[in-house]
Amino acid sequence: MSSIARRVAGFGTTVFVEINDLARQCNAVNLGQGAPDFDGPPEVLAAAVKAINGELNQYAPGIGMQVLREAVAQHAERFYNQRVDWQTEVLITSGATEAVFAAILGLTDPGDEVIVFEPVYDSYVPNMAMAGVRPRYVPLRGDQWSFDPDELTRAFNARTRAIIVNTPHNPTGKVYSRQELSLIADLCRKHQVVAITDEVYEHILYDGMAHIRLATLPGMAERTVTISSVGKTFSVTGWKIGWAIGPADLVNAVNRAHQFITFAVASPLQAAAALALGLPVKYFEELQVSYQSKRNRMIEVFQQAGLRVLKPQGSYFIMADWRAVAPRHVQDDVQFARWLTTEIGVACIPPSAFYQESDKELGRYLARFAICKKDETLAAAAERFARLGKL
Ligand code: PMP
Ligand code: GLN
Repeated sequence: MSSIARRVAGFGTTVFVEINDLARQCNAVNLGQGAPDFDGPPEVLAAAVKAINGELNQYAPGIGMQVLREAVAQHAERFYNQRVDWQTEVLITSGATEAVFAAILGLTDPGDEVIVFEPVYDSYVPNMAMAGVRPRYVPLRGDQWSFDPDELTRAFNARTRAIIVNTPHNPTGKVYSRQELSLIADLCRKHQVVAITDEVYEHILYDGMAHIRLATLPGMAERTVTISSVGKTFSVTGWKIGWAIGPADLVNAVNRAHQFITFAVASPLQAAAALALGLPVKYFEELQVSYQSKRNRMIEVFQQAGLRVLKPQGSYFIMADWRAVAPRHVQDDVQFARWLTTEIGVACIPPSAFYQESDKELGRYLARFAICKKDETLAAAAERFARLGKL
């Protein structure tokens, strides 16, 4: 007898679990899941240990600890000139993942539509399915991953309740420009739609790109929930400390859901996250320098191996077209990911995981590589890639 609910029956196992398992079995260099294989800054780790030893081990307030809500507000002002009242406009969540889910649950009703750009991060659509909300897809196309303004305009209708914007974008590495964000903002204002932004890669930017918060565009502060987390910026993806920033009424709505999902998140890690967000600007600059060098190096490795790279502007990822290097029997991205992992010994993510069933063609000839890895790991991957042309 199967007692699995219809709500989740279609979900399957996430692609990250599948690829991690395969990479382990094959002893492959794992450029699949976007998780660093190095630790976060020692002072941040020490702050967590100190908090645990300092008896900070009971429930935090559901909305989040004061010290962290203040730090989130200060970080927003320091980097984006975004004025945030820490008392009413910040909610601490179990990572950005929970914040997005709680935002969907707290801000939409069954039957509503939520617009997403495709490829779309893998948790949003299942979140919507669980909330009884319908996704409306707007594709990103071409080497620049641009969207057609008319297509976006047509996606807005009387049922549209929210739009989710992920910038820098997973899996493409696209950083939305001010012009693109302005168009999104115009449509949100015109149709009275809430914007939910996922900005977890806000500090991983290349070639001098600037990250722009949609909430800082005219008229958007009152209708945007800005979501981020410490995972990527401080190389502690296992901590799952995130937040939602927005006007008090929207944050209150997100909190209504949050209070019955997790209620409150890990106290000692909140204390350490507060310290992390307050690190000097130098930390954030060095992070970018380090990622810029990883990205440049891996673009070169992939190009030399014969892949066609779609240059990312931000994020942990590089997308590349593998058609010139794969053997004839490899026909799609899932087969390529499997072949690369088993035969070449490097794991990657098949981007069709980020497309709905009917649009998987758009990701068919691509692979997503995570570059948030130690230089030794990237060197090991490079060595294996050098075998590619020689099989
Ligand atoms: N959003 C995006 C776009 C991501 O790539 C990820 C992956 N790490 C997350 C959210 C999850 O963030 P967190 O670990 O803070 O839940
Ligand atoms: N965000 C990470 C990625 O895209 C994975 C997070 C997860 O395993 N859900 O690789």
